[in-house]
Amino acid sequence: MVGQTHIVDKLRELARNLWWVWQPNVIALFRELDPILWREVDHNPVEFLKRLPQDQLEKRSAEMALDSRIDYAFRRQSEYLKDTSSWGAVHASILRARPVAYFSMEFGLHESLPIYSGGLGVLAGDHLKSASDLGIPLIAIGILYAQGYFRQSLDKDGWQQESYLNSDLDMLPIEAVTGPDGQPLKISIDTASGTLHARIWRVEVGRTTLLLLDSNLPENSETDRALTARLYGGDARVRIRQELLLGVGGVRALKALGITPSALHLNEGHSAFATLEMIRSVMEFTGLPFGEVMHDVIGMTVFTTHTPVAAGHDRFPSELVEENLCKVREGMHLSYDDFMGLGRVNTHDHHEPFCMTVLALKLSRYANGVSSLHGVVSRRMWQPLFGNVPEENVPIGHITNGVHVETWLAPQMALLLDRHMGVNWSVRQRHPETWEGIDTVDDAELWETQQVLKARLINFVRNRMAAQAQRRGEPESARNQAMGVLDPNALTIGFARRFATYKRAGLVLQDVERLAELLDAAGKPVQFVFAGKAHPEDRYGKELIQGIARITRKPEFFGKIVFVEDYDMNVARSLVQGVDVWMNNPRRPQEASGTSGQKAVLNGTLNFSVLDGWWAEAYDGTNGFAIGSGWTHAEPAVQDKRDYESLIETLANQVVPLYYDRDASGLPRGWIQRQKNGFRTMAWRFNADRMVMDYAQRSYLPAAGGQSCSMPRW
Ligand SMILES: *Cc1c(COP(=O)(O)O)cnc(C)c1O
Repeated sequence: MVGQTHIVDKLRELARNLWWVWQPNVIALFRELDPILWREVDHNPVEFLKRLPQDQLEKRSAEMALDSRIDYAFRRQSEYLKDTSSWGAVHASILRARPVAYFSMEFGLHESLPIYSGGLGVLAGDHLKSASDLGIPLIAIGILYAQGYFRQSLDKDGWQQESYLNSDLDMLPIEAVTGPDGQPLKISIDTASGTLHARIWRVEVGRTTLLLLDSNLPENSETDRALTARLYGGDARVRIRQELLLGVGGVRALKALGITPSALHLNEGHSAFATLEMIRSVMEFTGLPFGEVMHDVIGMTVFTTHTPVAAGHDRFPSELVEENLCKVREGMHLSYDDFMGLGRVNTHDHHEPFCMTVLALKLSRYANGVSSLHGVVSRRMWQPLFGNVPEENVPIGHITNGVHVETWLAPQMALLLDRHMGVNWSVRQRHPETWEGIDTVDDAELWETQQVLKARLINFVRNRMAAQAQRRGEPESARNQAMGVLDPNALTIGFARRFATYKRAGLVLQDVERLAELLDAAGKPVQFVFAGKAHPEDRYGKELIQGIARITRKPEFFGKIVFVEDYDMNVARSLVQGVDVWMNNPRRPQEASGTSGQKAVLNGTLNFSVLDGWWAEAYDGTNGFAIGSGWTHAEPAVQDKRDYESLIETLANQVVPLYYDRDASGLPRGWIQRQKNGFRTMAWRFNADRMVMDYAQRSYLPAAGGQSCSMPRW
């Protein structure tokens, strides 16, 4: 049975590297081996392989004739990992010796690795995947949260309940990083409140590596052991210490591994302490003075800011900063005041807290927002930091976000595009001309594919809702009712995101009579699927969710408005692939970019959104629908009212009529044309490959080339 054992080893290799996450064929392999177990383990192949006894695995793979497919998948993985003919090899070869170090508080790579909460993490995950596909040498640094973000359920009153489960580390695709002695490699940081120790885990994401720091070690105090338990779960003290670990600990981890980065990319301000540790350690290594080393570290640092919402920028009291960074400060030979000044707009204002975004802006050579509009807003927001420089000259540019195509494109849709466009996804999907081919796709086939995806979504929602009812202890009849929600022929609108105030999840629901009329127009039914989590401390967000939950139970809305619990990447994927319309109505201009609508584009789902973030630069009048005309009003209530009117009007007069305008063969030709316009104008552009190439050219390569010879190699 030697050959058979081999198959199991190959499956283990496939499970070990997250490359499988964006390989529909490999996912299909796991699923076919045992569909029920696959769902039970939350699509986690490590756990899947541990729970499936080896003899059964061998038997199944033989019975199902999967051996040759496993062989083939394994060979493709090896070839992918070895490939040297990538974009990066040609355009970013100087990064080969010294990779880019990419820091982020969260990474959304797959639902089975729960170390993300929302858009920021998913963006970081997509960034790693595209960097891998493009062959751009990049090493990422994050934190391993034992409990991740919370799991959401709603109680009988629609009130959000949070539960925290400890991940079983043996079931995660992580590997302990060890030193030359074979012992786990550790880093430590001295602070005024004790030494913080952490170990390092490694996650392989195709050709990129993600290092995760973990403070759950016996040598730590009880408080520090729990430091990395939860993402966004603690008070300011927990938060700053997590950020200390990410930034300072991250640089120390690189050093412990002998990796000299050519550029530091701070994905949001959380990790900005990395610049300070870089300065401190280079000063220690070279003996050069602070000013000179700071200049060099600025030269290698790039920063991406992600929100115009004030609360999204961490600010800490200086005592808390001193408590945690005193040793770093001493190593930089800086006075208390000079050090705190690095995080203040007005350097000598002792009352100003220490702001991570200010630190990142002061210590980076290049900073960017995440859409064109967000660039404008960020320049306005941070102008005071730049003295007399006029707003338009404030040195913050923009690189618009994009999504990783193979992660978000439904396999069924990929097959259709393959068939008609002959798209070679790994190379050609980022070229505009590739998508010109969308016009050759048969209307009926595109429509049918979307119907299939919608049916899958409805099936998914029904099962979820039945399980939700069961968990709440509702009677059998409620479960049966759940299995009948949603109409496969109705226009289906999805709305799923964090329940942050500015996203205005309740906007469409504010006049239930008007809504009921809209949902029930003769022969033109409309239905809504909602999902999303509120931050545990956000009472207002929880009230919004409760409001929606209550509406879903009213007889006139039951089965037509549904709420799916526990929004994560799995729910997001089902939704963006299966609904007809993706709705987003943030209070402009507070949505820095938004990316879920970009995932929708790839699946023929039409965006219906406020002209904010990415949609402000994507919408051209033919590729989706707009809410409002890009207005803002100083008075939020006025803006909300205008947006609401526009939303309902546009829905009733444009979206619904176009959807139900069918020709003799039953096809909504005008709608399908818009879907095609969506693919053609947006799929190549709001694409993580394009985004990462932009980062390479505008941000990484200048940073890598911008260092003086004083930067040491570790
Ligand atoms: C894509 C994604 C997001 C980000 O979507 P927005 O448009 O920024 O709201 C958030 N959460 C999950 C799970 C996602 O997949």
